[in-house]
Amino acid sequence: MRRVLVAGNWKMHKVPSEARIWLAELKRLLPPLESEVAVLPAFPMLPVAREVLSGTQVAYGAQDVSPHREGAYTGEVSARMLADLGCRYTIVGHSERRRYHHETDALVAEKAKRLLEEGITPILCVGEPLEVRERGEAVPYTLRQLFESLEGVEPPGPERLVIAYEPVWAIGTGQNATPEDAESMHRAIRQALAELYGEGFARRVRILYGGSVNPKNFADLLSMPNVDGGLVGGASLELESFLSLLRIA
Ligand code: PGA
Repeated sequence: MRRVLVAGNWKMHKVPSEARIWLAELKRLLPPLESEVAVLPAFPMLPVAREVLSGTQVAYGAQDVSPHREGAYTGEVSARMLADLGCRYTIVGHSERRRYHHETDALVAEKAKRLLEEGITPILCVGEPLEVRERGEAVPYTLRQLFESLEGVEPPGPERLVIAYEPVWAIGTGQNATPEDAESMHRAIRQALAELYGEGFARRVRILYGGSVNPKNFADLLSMPNVDGGLVGGASLELESFLSLLRIA
């Protein structure tokens, strides 16, 4: 019922000329897929993604968006620009932006709204830092973040929202959540989404796991009933490991 999504978050890696070669190779080597695949490069690579990937099954999108629609906002990139470039998905609320750019839940909600207005599906990230998990408060912390980041956000259907559970302590550390811990958080998130948008929506919305996903742990994570794919950083940069993840999915 829920199609697995494997999304590669390139963060601030690669340059457009490298991306062109990498994406062309991905296109050439892409295995037949039941799942969905997306690459999420930095803004300057999006025109390259459009050029190389149009007509393929590989979706692409950005890692952030402005909360404003248009105007005198130097350095910002609008949802309309991303839509014009053919983005299907865009990340909002990644913990690196929450941490280094002090993004609040309210700001994340505004960004999600701008994306939905332009027909782009937000991949909304939530997840607890280590000290919160150690205090035993991971679930209430993450659900509060989820509710507040979705305040006033009205996706027209369950296919128009993706949640990524990314425990902060697992990102880029090589230490992933156990499949069981991921599953219990994903189940709690799905229940929260049922409260917000109804049971039918919650059953069909995808919840990705992110945080040190690699070809060794992905199959176990994906075997959990409420894990619908991965938001993958480090392991999405090398073509070979990204292809391995796609073969597993
Ligand atoms: P990682 O990053 O796979 O390198 O841990 C995941 C993410 O931050 O989206």
